[in-house]
Amino acid sequence: MKAIAIIPGHPESAGVIDMPEPPATDGSILLRTKLIGVCGTDVEIARDGYGSPPPGEERLVLGHESLGEVLEAPAGSGFSPGDLLAGVVRRPDPVPCGACAVDEWDMCRNGRFVERGIKDRHGYGSERFRLDPRFAIRLDPQLGDLGVLVEPTSVVAKAWEHSERIGGRAWFEPKVALITGAGPIGLLATLLARQRGLETHVVDRNTSGPKPKLVNDLGAHYHSVPITDIGVNPDIVIECTGVGELAIQAAQQTSPGAVVALTGISHSDRAVETYPDEMNRALVLGNKVVFGTVNAARRHYEQAADALLKADRHWLGRLITRRLPPQDWPDALTKRPDDIKIVIEMAR
Ligand code: BGC
Repeated sequence: MKAIAIIPGHPESAGVIDMPEPPATDGSILLRTKLIGVCGTDVEIARDGYGSPPPGEERLVLGHESLGEVLEAPAGSGFSPGDLLAGVVRRPDPVPCGACAVDEWDMCRNGRFVERGIKDRHGYGSERFRLDPRFAIRLDPQLGDLGVLVEPTSVVAKAWEHSERIGGRAWFEPKVALITGAGPIGLLATLLARQRGLETHVVDRNTSGPKPKLVNDLGAHYHSVPITDIGVNPDIVIECTGVGELAIQAAQQTSPGAVVALTGISHSDRAVETYPDEMNRALVLGNKVVFGTVNAARRHYEQAADALLKADRHWLGRLITRRLPPQDWPDALTKRPDDIKIVIEMAR
């Protein structure tokens, strides 16, 4: 069967390879791959050499944002042919650490977890893949192709859940949210903010293209000015750009008691002048929390699937701006100005 693969750090190696059928050790459910979403992490794998192929192999099959249709599932597994599923990305470490032992692999303490399509294990980007029921998320058929958004939404579902749990350390009634970045993660974080009824502000440097309208159509406010010029003091910030200064600025701009979730990373070695004592003062005197969050546990995928089901499907559909056949997948590594989410149609 064909698969989309790359040698991490070698974008010129991006292509389609032939590989054996998925091994039975991957799980008892066999799926036909419908869509694979491409995200910033895939670009980092290609360009910066983030991630790693399975031990002893040169190429990594990509695809951690998945949507598949069940072809075969064992009786009693709770899954049947025709079901739409999304696969969980991370697998717990083999030790397992305290967090992985309770299925919070997203909080793994020893770093020995693996991630499908990212770290030490092939992804879902082949014509067929297999899943263990424990790592399979059943989707409402009404979601259809939008099910490919479950994985990126799981990342923001976790950011929201953790922000609220952290906020809950004391009296917390958030009213205003700030989202930095209006890429797929920022837009999905905005959707979840609006589903919570929060006054939501989004900052992004784009002034044209589909992003301002997508934000406004959720009833959120779009700004392409520095955070310090928006004139609001958010209670919750979801930082989705990975730009370090934005995290610092956002933390200083928040209300007392605020929670700032950092979801993005960048690989630059830029140096900027910082004032750590000022930051320290703002955090201490404001009882503020800045925390990092990566990946998602199974419950966050379930929260994500519920949030997508409640959302306007026409709006969600506008997030998918390009669909490519597998042989053209390397084009997905170069975003065009109007791109939000690019998906690969594996059966094309
Ligand atoms: C994925 C996460 C993963 C992270 C780091 C992201 O793109 O959505 O599940 O943990 O990359 O590897």
